[in-house]
Amino acid sequence: MKIKSLLLATFVCFAFAQIAAAQTEEKFDFYTRGAYRQEVPRPQSILRYDVGDFHTTYAQMERVIEAIAKAAPDRVKIYDIGLTNEYRMQHIVAISSPENMARLDEIKASNARLTDSRSTNQAQANQIAQMNPVISWMAYTIHGNESASFETMMQVVYQLAASNEPATAEILQNNVVLIITGENPDGHERFATWYNSVATGNADRNALEHREPWSIWGRYNHFRFDLNRDNIAATQIETKNLQKAFFEWNPQVAVDHHGQTSQFFFPPAALPINPNLPQPATNKWNEIFGRANAQSFDRNRWDYYVRDIFDLFYPGYWDSFPSLNGAIGMTYETDGGGNKGLNWTRDDGTIVTFRSAIAKHYVASMTTLETAAKNRASRLQDFYDFRRTAIDEVRGEKIKRIVIDPSSDWAKTADLIEILQRAKIEVRWSPNFTLPNARSYAERNFSSANKSFSSGAYIIELAQPQKRIAKALLEPDTLQDAAFVRDQMAKFRRNELRGKSQVKEDYAFYDITAWNLPLAFGVDAYWSDNAAQISNANLIDENFTTQNRARKTRFARAEIAYIIPYEQDAAAAAAIRLLKEEYRVSVATKPLNAAGMNFPRGTFVARVNRNQPTIHQAIEKLAKELNLTVYGVNTGFQDIGDTGIGSENVTALQNPKIAMVADEAVSQTSYGSLWWTFDRYKIEFTPMTINNIRSGALKNYTVLIMPDGAAARYSSAFGSAGVTTLKTWINNGGTVVTMRGSSVFAALKDVGLTSSKLVGSTEDEDRDKAAEENEVDKRKEAESKPSPTPTPAPNRNRQAEPEATPTPENLTDKQDWNAPMLPPIASPSATAGKVPEGVPGAIMRATVDRTTYLTYGVETENLPVLLASGYFFRPSKEGTNALIFEPKPKQPLTVSGFVWEGNTERLLKGTAYLIDEPTGSGHVILFAEEPFFRGIFRTTTRPFFNSILFNGSF
Ligand SMILES: [Zn+2]
Repeated sequence: MKIKSLLLATFVCFAFAQIAAAQTEEKFDFYTRGAYRQEVPRPQSILRYDVGDFHTTYAQMERVIEAIAKAAPDRVKIYDIGLTNEYRMQHIVAISSPENMARLDEIKASNARLTDSRSTNQAQANQIAQMNPVISWMAYTIHGNESASFETMMQVVYQLAASNEPATAEILQNNVVLIITGENPDGHERFATWYNSVATGNADRNALEHREPWSIWGRYNHFRFDLNRDNIAATQIETKNLQKAFFEWNPQVAVDHHGQTSQFFFPPAALPINPNLPQPATNKWNEIFGRANAQSFDRNRWDYYVRDIFDLFYPGYWDSFPSLNGAIGMTYETDGGGNKGLNWTRDDGTIVTFRSAIAKHYVASMTTLETAAKNRASRLQDFYDFRRTAIDEVRGEKIKRIVIDPSSDWAKTADLIEILQRAKIEVRWSPNFTLPNARSYAERNFSSANKSFSSGAYIIELAQPQKRIAKALLEPDTLQDAAFVRDQMAKFRRNELRGKSQVKEDYAFYDITAWNLPLAFGVDAYWSDNAAQISNANLIDENFTTQNRARKTRFARAEIAYIIPYEQDAAAAAAIRLLKEEYRVSVATKPLNAAGMNFPRGTFVARVNRNQPTIHQAIEKLAKELNLTVYGVNTGFQDIGDTGIGSENVTALQNPKIAMVADEAVSQTSYGSLWWTFDRYKIEFTPMTINNIRSGALKNYTVLIMPDGAAARYSSAFGSAGVTTLKTWINNGGTVVTMRGSSVFAALKDVGLTSSKLVGSTEDEDRDKAAEENEVDKRKEAESKPSPTPTPAPNRNRQAEPEATPTPENLTDKQDWNAPMLPPIASPSATAGKVPEGVPGAIMRATVDRTTYLTYGVETENLPVLLASGYFFRPSKEGTNALIFEPKPKQPLTVSGFVWEGNTERLLKGTAYLIDEPTGSGHVILFAEEPFFRGIFRTTTRPFFNSILFNGSF
């Protein structure tokens, strides 16, 4: 019996092994590239498990690299580069040959000289290129749940520190390898700890371990930002740490290691490529590294692909950003680990293991370093040429300089200038000057005029070494490749003809197509083709920006009242915080005259006699912290006008008690951008699940924020009972603030939180009218050009699953589920011309209604806003439309970026971006899009704060 069962057990094991061997790749041996130095410990000797058997946590990883560095001080040095939000230290492990390590500071200094052709001539550059190693930036685990890269990193450190193999020695002689041990330590820790605690190594895609709960989602950092989108505005601490280190080292090769694809991906990248990159050089180097990787992968008989999905257009990635700084920036994607866990069943039934995913990254990392070593001198030479040619090419280009006028908000402008300074972009400042041929960013139909600046404006001369990144971040519009656009338009026309149940062709836009910082922030900016020198324009440093940030900070002690003009985003934050501390704050609903000055509507007033004596210190403290302008008023008598401090039109504000939905239905990054914004201004809120809301948890709250999320998921989570609870709460005085997907939810027929209708939906009464207009448009079009011939559609639709939970199958890496999506109501052929096509992300002109409280603090006629969906909302007939896409003669709605010709502008016309519907004693406030998309877009900061702050009072 004993024998029999043993035999059976052996048989079962054998059978399993056979199946496993057939289904998984061969177990990769990480230790074939010796001989190894005995004194250097292998990661496994410290971790106590084999490569790919378990997920390594951050502190364990730190023990590994410290032990290796201690044992190999001749080759390895660890640099601490800054803390994360959760107090983890980020590191760079520098590894090179002992000879290079002995002169590391000298190498760094010579390398830095390659970044400025104004002070380093060609001959000197050649000399440096002969003498210096190449600097290779190897960054791992920016998406914390793409975990294979984290384990790979330790194997690469060990190989470089311990091996005496000639090929490894050659890498070390020709490279200073910079290993970024974790780009997103907080996200990785959430994922690794969770995964380790639930995993059984199950390859079934339905196993629990392949479904990260909402609160884990290790892809993002602490504030649920996608760090691989953050290089545009550098809002996150990790981005700031990495950028600082990046510009200290100025690498020539930069690899960002990910892990979400079905097969391994390495460059060449897909189209479109950011037009600010020098095409032949970029292509040449992508090809060199791509072919080298291909050779290594072919040798191992591993699958991979190139081009196809991952483009280089949006400058905020950790491949495009280094590329725009002269490195060859590359994204590598491995095929296992992360959400696929230790084992994952592929679509053909084979299994990809964590270990094999680690192995692929390891081989790609080593191949890249070998390739960098082989091409060392020419890579260094091209790195020098990158900036030299950038300066030269400005002569042939239209945009020669950009001027940013800080007078509308000094603190916000300082935020913008600091982003440029972090990216080593030279910024100048002049107290007053005239800019010839100035063209305003605010209009797409540029007309030029001489513009005088007397308030002191920032000047960015594009003829500078950092021209390419400066232009990528600041140019009013980034040129799309014409052939690429034609392709997408052809797909669009074919899609319009497709039937309801036919899969649509997907578009190749990977990301938003407009992001220029002046428009995203909402500061006044101009560009000019005039390069004549501006006198008194001096280079500024960081201290200068800090001082300018506080330029309008004022506090004068008041006897009667304090006036906080709503000229800064922070003014509203100050009011919210004062109310929280139980001070009494009011707002002037009409233009106010006080202290001998006129103030627009929306000005905050804190009366001394209505408050505790500590009001003086409280306001002084806030003024300093938030760089506020605060005026002290010593008499209640106004010189002119109807409204003074004591007027009926100065209305008391209620303390907003804010709750925010934090649940599976909610977009992580939308929630994160709101959380981060509240955190910046130290405004308190309570995250809450939908279940709690359904059970009456809103009782003690006055505001509920519903971040973007899939409408259908919101709908099923609330259910009809939940919606009823919500409506009762609103009727009793609550305010709901919705945005994008949650606004779609609010407009759903069976939810009915708003009377606004989604354009193109079945409830949309104006649909047929739109279709008639379309007919006219089409007839006009037909007269001028031949109609395209429809071609068969490939059966692939990358962006067709907006309502689904993101999983490894339907989420590709540069795509977060916030990425542009199609509206949920498409039934193409029946509704052709009636349904807005999802816009990848463009900046549009919204017209401001300056009679509603929602636009307090906004005294301009127009406001640029991001449009990144196909969700267009009909104006409310029952409430106020505070921001509307109003057609104006000769002024297109599109200010920057790509929109669908014949569709977007036509259907967007007359729709609303921001709606307030009073409901019972409460309000429903609807934003068509997210107000703080990725922390980049900030023009709707004041309307958003207003939606929270004033609802109890109006
Ligand atoms: Zn990734």
